[in-house]
Amino acid sequence: MKSRLTLWVLLLCSSLLFSCTTSGGRTPRKAKAWESALGSVPKTKISPQQLSKSVNVRRSYIPRGRYGRRKHRPMKPTYITIHSTQNYTGDAWAHAKALRRGALRGGTIGYLCWHFTVQDDVVVQHIPTSERGEHADFDGPGNRKSIAIEMCEHRGNSQAQTLERTAKLTASLMYHHKIPLSHVVPHYHWPRAGYSTPHKNCPHYLLDNGRPGPTWEWFKRRVGEHYKRISA
Ligand SMILES: [Zn+2]
Repeated sequence: MKSRLTLWVLLLCSSLLFSCTTSGGRTPRKAKAWESALGSVPKTKISPQQLSKSVNVRRSYIPRGRYGRRKHRPMKPTYITIHSTQNYTGDAWAHAKALRRGALRGGTIGYLCWHFTVQDDVVVQHIPTSERGEHADFDGPGNRKSIAIEMCEHRGNSQAQTLERTAKLTASLMYHHKIPLSHVVPHYHWPRAGYSTPHKNCPHYLLDNGRPGPTWEWFKRRVGEHYKRISA
């Protein structure tokens, strides 16, 4: 009897120990492949100009007065919204071409548009950051107040380098528009009125079970580390 009791106590202790070390929230989660590929962000200071230059932004604007810019709608950005394209064939240039031709329909003015599309080696800008886009939540604050960044997912594109370029672009935009890290949000953040699933699973590979979790926190930390390097 005594030995059986000892066994129960031992089992209870070991299961408590087990739960403490595995679900206490302190155990490092399994890192995504891109995290180890990227390593840590250097601590050395960088000027805002050097950072912008390393991001490599190329302009390919939708013509003023047409398609996603058919109405002039000024914006003072106070948020940055991160998306991923879920398009496994088109690169950033293909998205730029589609936007310039008015090929992507939707939103409140009949045409989708957003500010930047990022791939591993370049960022393509489609509209000025002083104009609102059509990418998140119709007439909601996501469209009215945020700069939108789409991350490419086409085959052959490095996901790690796309994430790193996106993190640097985000840090650079935070600096130039005085936007705090707390206002860097996933598309998920902006509910879409009238949808059965108002919170979109976007950017899907930075969310955990369709919502912001440790992977999103990792991305935000990365953005914060790039931001901290900036020294005027
Ligand atoms: Zn999205």
